[in-house]
Parts: sequence; C-alpha cells; structure tokens
Amino acid sequence: MFYGPNMQHLMSTYNRLPLTFSRGEGVWLEDIEGKKYLDAISGIAVCGLGHCHPDISRVICEQASILLHTSNLYEVPLQAQLAERLAELTGMDKVFFANSGAEANEAAIKIARLYGHKKGINTPSILVCEGSFHGRTMATLSATGSRKVRAGFEPLLRGFSRIPYNDLDAVRDAVRNDPNVVAILVEPVQGEGGIIVPNKDYLTSLREICDENGWLLMLDEIQTGLCRSGKWFCHQYAGIVPDVMTLAKALGNGFPIGACVVGSKAANVFEPGNHGSTFGGNPLASATALAVLNVLERDNLAEQAARSGELLQKLFNDALSGNAHVKDIRGMGLLFAIELDRPCGELVMKAADKGLLINVTAENVIRLLPPLICNEADIREIVNRLNPLIEEFFVQ
Ligand SMILES: *Cc1c(COP(=O)(O)O)cnc(C)c1O
Repeated sequence: MFYGPNMQHLMSTYNRLPLTFSRGEGVWLEDIEGKKYLDAISGIAVCGLGHCHPDISRVICEQASILLHTSNLYEVPLQAQLAERLAELTGMDKVFFANSGAEANEAAIKIARLYGHKKGINTPSILVCEGSFHGRTMATLSATGSRKVRAGFEPLLRGFSRIPYNDLDAVRDAVRNDPNVVAILVEPVQGEGGIIVPNKDYLTSLREICDENGWLLMLDEIQTGLCRSGKWFCHQYAGIVPDVMTLAKALGNGFPIGACVVGSKAANVFEPGNHGSTFGGNPLASATALAVLNVLERDNLAEQAARSGELLQKLFNDALSGNAHVKDIRGMGLLFAIELDRPCGELVMKAADKGLLINVTAENVIRLLPPLICNEADIREIVNRLNPLIEEFFVQ
C-alpha cells in the first residue's frame, strides 16, 4: 500500500488505483518505493515514445527557455510548421489546434454543423455510433455511445443520431430516412468500447456513402492515430482519406495538445471568428508535437508497432488459444485486446503487483496499449507477466 499526498481536496471524478509513480524512463515507470512497472498502457495511448524520451524532453526544455506562449492574436510559426507536417502526413489540407481530444472533437462537431448550415440545412445532424467514446465535454459526451458517460447530464445536445457500429445498413437507412444528416463521426477502431475492429470494408463503404450524399466523413483517431495501429493513421489500412480527422493523446507524448485536421471539403468551413482557443497550438505545444512526429518518422515506429502487434497476437494465441474462457484475442498494431468471458477488473491490480500496468475496459476486455518503442524483449515480457495471471484467474 502506498500513501500519497492527501487527496481530499481533489474532486472525486476518478476511481484511482492505489499506485503513485515518481519517475519514468522508456517503457518503465517507477513508484515512490522504487518498484518498477512495465507500462503496457502508456498513460492511455499517450506516451507512445515511452516516458521522458530524451529527444522530446530536450525540445521541451529548449523551447521553454525561448518562448512558451503568445496567443493566437499573432502568427505562430511553429504552429504553421506543425500544420504543414500533419498535412503532408495525411494528404489533408488544414489544421486547427486545441488542447485535448474532446476539444478537437468539439471543433469537428462545430465544423459539421456549420457545413450543414452553409448547405441550407438548419437542423444538421451527425451520425454517431453505439459503443463510441468521444470525450467528456457537453457536445462530445452527447456524441458518446456509453450511457454511463451521458447519465445525469441531460438535457444532452441535440443533433446526434445514434446507430450501431460496424453496421452499413444502419447508415443506408439514415440516407433514406434522415435528410438532416451532414456527417458521420466514427472511430476507425473503437478504443474505450473494447478495441472493436470493424469489418474490412466498413471505412471504404462509409467513404462512398459520404461521397454520394455530400456528408463529411469525420474520423476520431485520437486513440488510433499516430502510428499506434501500425500505420500513421488507422484509416490508411482502408486506403481512404477522411474529410475531418481528430488527433490528441500521442501527439504531445504527454504534453497536452489536440488537433482537428480537415481535407478540401471542409477546409473553408471555419472563417475568422468561428472558433478559437487561447492556448491551442502555442509555441511549446507545437514544438513538442513537431519533435514527436520527427521521432515517429525517424524511428519507423508505425512499422515497429505493426510488428509488435503481430508478435503479441502470436504469443497470446500460442499461450491462450486452448483456454475456453478467452473469447477473443484481437488488435491492430499496438491497439490490443484480450476478451474474457467474465468481468476481469481485478486483473489490473494483480498485474500491477507483478510489475505490469494494463487496463480493463468494457468490463471483460483486457486492453494493452504499450509504448510504440517496445522492443521484442519488452513484448515478450508483457506476455510472460500477463499470461500466468489470466490462467490463474480461471483456476480459483
Ligand atoms: C481519449 C479519447 C477522447 C478524449 O480525449 P481527451 O483528451 O480525454 O479529451 C476522444 N476520443 C477518443 C477515441 C479517445 O480515445
């Protein structure tokens, strides 16, 4: 048991685990008693480059001693440079910078509504999916699929129409029945929902349907983006380009920054005065994110994540395929899940006892989001530490 500082003045928004970390290096976190943990959750898909990556820490220190913040009253060259890099990487056009995932999605939602109004649709509606997670602000929780996230915050924002995930017929029904739809907002793989991977043709078909109907295809890549899926962006597996894509989590490797990236169809929707953020894309955030993109590219971390994901799949398949309680082992790159036949939240602390940080989502899904910099030995270590725990879990 660890006793951290007195927590009684923190609002009780989180069910925190009794773990207190004091430092991190690479794939390892160290607690206040000096115990080391292999971090297979990366601060929820944030620290893709591991903890305190030297190239990132150096840029943060250097930029912090030059210029932190000026506001968007003025030109911010580092922000423009970051937008240019993201445009190159995505084949898209323009970027708005925010400070979190929810804020990036807020920008996307406002773009969809304004896009609708500009087409003469006065009550524009956005298709969203069951099981989705888009954030905790009023607009993004209204878009989110989980009832638990929404409960108690009614009245919710109108203008969202909910359909099952990975269900193209539901989308086609909306085409026939709802003339107010202007966009669909969807995760390429549902993260919080339990690493739900849709059918291969899902995104390509959504792209076609959006094109046929003049809708915006808006992809929430906040968890899936920036090499985690084994490609720079998860939608690249489908060979499509979205009209709007949101990023956050890994973009700053722990420094808060979010981005809403748009292609030509949505490039000129926002005009001066339509949207803004005091902090968004400030020199420190932009310099940090540029450094993150440089390391992701220099070290070929998309390919490494793809290889690591294949190894995880193989090792867990070999070890667990005979276990009738294991319902599914799935993933894309280092978005990885082992679905069990019962709730398994207690595995989180059991793993922590063994020096491994994992997460359980959707009650019975073990979620692994290891740092992209994991080498083969790290991946084997994750499996070696987790496997016996899963086996013991069903023997009690
Ligand atoms: C984490 C997450 C968000 C919310 O990001 P915040 O930075 O917590 O606001 C939105 N969408 C997805 C898919 C996420 O994984």
